[in-house]
Amino acid sequence: MLTFDEALTRAEHYHGHICSGQVLGIRMIQHGLRLMGLENDNLRDLMVFVESDRCVLDAVYAATGLTMGRRRVKLKPHGKTAMSLVDLNTGLGFRLWVKCPDFPPPDADCKTWWAQYTDDQLFGVSKVHIAIPPEDLPGRPKYEAECDACGASVLDNRHVEQDGRTLCLDCANGPYWTEVTP
Ligand SMILES: [Zn+2]
Ligand SMILES: [Zn+2]
Repeated sequence: MLTFDEALTRAEHYHGHICSGQVLGIRMIQHGLRLMGLENDNLRDLMVFVESDRCVLDAVYAATGLTMGRRRVKLKPHGKTAMSLVDLNTGLGFRLWVKCPDFPPPDADCKTWWAQYTDDQLFGVSKVHIAIPPEDLPGRPKYEAECDACGASVLDNRHVEQDGRTLCLDCANGPYWTEVTP
């Protein structure tokens, strides 16, 4: 495991600045790794569910090298500075969240500000199980379908069956984009 300062340097480079999200995110994931007994491990069997698509997500990338593209980080965009670390074989692990109500004043050095709290003061922890569907696991795709409407190849069981047809989500529910004529 990187030291906190090594991870913060990476996070500053990757994320573009040091902020409370980087400081809390690194401390949270490293606290979680220690709870999992993975501080000296290669994290081969770890999956992290991050509950915000903001700064804290980049802190997890920087501190661990795990990414969404490698299917080791899952986004649950619930707007919370919280995450769950689980063993992807068993689904067992820990959920951590920020319980400390104070936030640093705008001109404060956030690394120094948060350093006044211990991990136990900062984070709530509970033991959790997460049911990970087979299509969400790392490795080669287990499911591949073709959309009967647009012909797109759809991986990972993200297609739906509707009135006897196999459809991608955009053809089934309407696309998330609007085409603009040039
Ligand atoms: Zn930030
Ligand atoms: Zn389609």
